Amino acid sequence: MGSGQVADSFGGYRTRLVEQLRANGIRDLAVLHAFATVPRHLFVPEALRRRAYEDVALPIGNGQTISQPTTQARYLEALGLRGQERVLEVGTGSGYQTALLASLASSVISVERLPGLAAEARAALKAASVTGATVVVGDGSLGWRTLAPFDGILVAAASPVVPRPLLEQLSDGGALVIPLQSGDTQHLFRITKRGAKVTEEDLGEALFVPLVGRHGFEKGEV
Ligand code: SAH
Repeated sequence: MGSGQVADSFGGYRTRLVEQLRANGIRDLAVLHAFATVPRHLFVPEALRRRAYEDVALPIGNGQTISQPTTQARYLEALGLRGQERVLEVGTGSGYQTALLASLASSVISVERLPGLAAEARAALKAASVTGATVVVGDGSLGWRTLAPFDGILVAAASPVVPRPLLEQLSDGGALVIPLQSGDTQHLFRITKRGAKVTEEDLGEALFVPLVGRHGFEKGEV
């Protein structure tokens, strides 16, 4: 679990990013600690490294983006992780959020549909000395059945509906966070399951790339 301490010259920038997150209302100390320790510059393309700790989304190639840190922090707060959970992430992208999750939970399995991005994310996670996280290639709208159930599921791409396999693979008492798209707008939802009771909470507007897969958008649709 977690991210080893990487000696680098970006510590001051990370501290400033954490201050920015606090100013934006992030309170969860474990979440703030994760941002203080994970080296975000290792997850962005080399040409963008000096902008790595700005609170903005950045392009990571393949038409995809690494999300804005404040958005990721809200997401992570919504999952309410306490350190012992087994987590599924859908949409690895750069692997940065995977690294944050690894510092907040016991183990993370992250599914990415684009093999090139998955390979780069694996290399970045290794360079950042992150342990407890595994990146696999596949359609994450199907979840990852062989390792289910999961105490937390984080979907980093917007879907028209809640993919049924993800709900099925959520453990009792677990939380699923997912951006849902309706028309031109997206809202982030937290879905919790207690016995047969499923509760949905709207956490506000979101802006994510589409979830392309069997239970998401079709490829030609986006
Ligand atoms: N949180 C990430 C950014 C995710 S961007 C970060 O920190 O960098 C969303 C990612 O979801 C993209 O990499 C995209 O390729 C991936 N994606 C889209 N549909 C998917 C699917 N069905 N299964 C797995 N990954 C998918």
